[in-house]
Amino acid sequence: GRELEWAVNTPELAAEHASINSNIIRTRFPPEPNGYLHFGHAQSMNMNFALSFEKLGVPMENRRTIFRFDDTNPDAESPEYIDSMKRDLEWMGWQPEKTTYSSDNFQTLYELAVKLIKKGLAYVCDMTKPEMEAQRELAKQRCAARAVGTDPDVVAPIPSADILPGRNRDTSVERNLKLFEEMKLGLHDEGTLTLRLKMDFDSPNPNMYDLVAYRIRYTPHPHAGNGWCIYPNYDFTHGICDSLEHIDYSICTLEFETRREPYFWILWALDMYRPKVYEMSRLNVEYTVLSKRRLLKLVNANYVRGWNDPRMPTISGLRRRGYNKQIINNFCNEVGATRSAKVVQMAKLFHVARLTLADTTRRAMAALEPIKVVITNFDEEAGKVGENGMTFEVQNSPTDATLGSHNVTLTGTIYIDSEDFKTEDDPNFYRLTPNKPVGVKYHGGNLICDEIVKDGDKIKMLKCRLDSSEGRPKPKSYITWVPSDGIKCEVRVYGHLFTQPEPSDRWEEELNSESEVIHSNAIIDPSVLELVDKKDVNEWKSNQALQFERLGYFVVDTDTTFDSTTREGMLVFNRTVSLKEDKTV
Ligand code: ATP
Ligand code: MG
Ligand code: MG
Repeated sequence: GRELEWAVNTPELAAEHASINSNIIRTRFPPEPNGYLHFGHAQSMNMNFALSFEKLGVPMENRRTIFRFDDTNPDAESPEYIDSMKRDLEWMGWQPEKTTYSSDNFQTLYELAVKLIKKGLAYVCDMTKPEMEAQRELAKQRCAARAVGTDPDVVAPIPSADILPGRNRDTSVERNLKLFEEMKLGLHDEGTLTLRLKMDFDSPNPNMYDLVAYRIRYTPHPHAGNGWCIYPNYDFTHGICDSLEHIDYSICTLEFETRREPYFWILWALDMYRPKVYEMSRLNVEYTVLSKRRLLKLVNANYVRGWNDPRMPTISGLRRRGYNKQIINNFCNEVGATRSAKVVQMAKLFHVARLTLADTTRRAMAALEPIKVVITNFDEEAGKVGENGMTFEVQNSPTDATLGSHNVTLTGTIYIDSEDFKTEDDPNFYRLTPNKPVGVKYHGGNLICDEIVKDGDKIKMLKCRLDSSEGRPKPKSYITWVPSDGIKCEVRVYGHLFTQPEPSDRWEEELNSESEVIHSNAIIDPSVLELVDKKDVNEWKSNQALQFERLGYFVVDTDTTFDSTTREGMLVFNRTVSLKEDKTV
């Protein structure tokens, strides 16, 4: 009904818009800089920069997207967040037509508010917060009564016109202009006065109960500076900015559906061009939370080491974990944009990541918890192999020859991973035990454990023999190894941030205490350094992805600024994802 009426542009407005935009179709991505961008924003960016245009069949050259900081709440916003959002958007590869700030329109918004006062459609209100809540509650109850055909005056009688419609509603334009001016000049205290829109207390939509358009706040603004002590609210600002920027499609998440009505009402009241509004469901992903407010709590309570902790569902956390923009956007495309609510499985992200990384990453061997193995008959065995001795050529990628190859050299002392050895025999364990040999990857022979040398309870080393004889038993599996000149590094393996797929209201109690396992004595194949030419850790800052054979996909940690565990000059790897589904924590 009325909403539709308000949404319709007059022929003049439609013609003006058409002449300004001509063939251009414009969307906007409008985050509030009150935290870091997360997965949900990735979905929204994908929608606003690509998917929506594809759905509409808009040719490339006609697509425009404005990157707008929706910065109307100086209490929660900061330059750090603004900078991080710019960085993350750029890293995602999106190219905005321009970057704007809602706060750049503060003067215009103020003038439009004055215009509404002059039209008798806005008034300065001195009701307290509890009074406004009582007013809202009353209006809601009366509306509910009318909806079921009962008399609102019986069900929810109005105690006083002071509360409903409120004592300020029918005050003079002069009084309201004067008070609004005083608010702007800083003559009133915070919380004493607001500017409200004269909407409709009979509406079934509580968002029409005379929305607050302006509030007094003596907080400097991160972008606009110190010039203002009155700030426009989200609803008042958003639609006007959309209109001023000549947005064609204003896409938001479903919880904003009930705010269409005030969106259109405000533009109708100001006789401004009305964009089309579309809602899609919010992206939720299992085992994590996608809300800046909750993520901020995780950061502030030191549950994680910062916004870019590799466990965080933020763009910066995902980046640090080794997810690149292809993975993130492929995932968003798979999930798609619909109106049905959904909690997407984390497994879906992992699956997309594996598909994307499988063919492009180079492989290397690593031992996360190394056990030293001394090969007692090494010299004898080394004499048996061909001219390359114990050096083997290994394809960097088993599926892509263009990624080249590297050499690994078996040495008299090697390191194997503790997962590949058990002190007790076990019929279900196919790797090395005292009485069961195991194959040695690339060499091909068997490793036989003759002696476990202990230091107290701990295994100090294994004394083993290589067996490359013709008649050796065929091993159940081949294990990976790292030569004696392997590189010591730290490897961090990640699990879910939460123990529950859908964290509840008590989500702080549902944090996974094993979401990060740090292997600080890991050792990796020295050939890894050849892959990047330089032995300088700084050379790795390009998010180099690797596959550690049998262990998963890893990335060199690019930012350890928040970390106390990092040792100077030591390479740190983060696991992006395991090789197979079942290994994922
Ligand atoms: P948060 O609760 O994390 O602050 P928000 O909706 O307030 O989320 P904004 O920064 O104001 O976040 O949103 C910028 C854009 O991103 C909006 O259009 C919003 O609808 C969209 N967006 C935010 N979170 C999600 C999500 N989980 N799924 C899809 N879109 C999202
Ligand atoms: Mg928001
Ligand atoms: Mg928010």
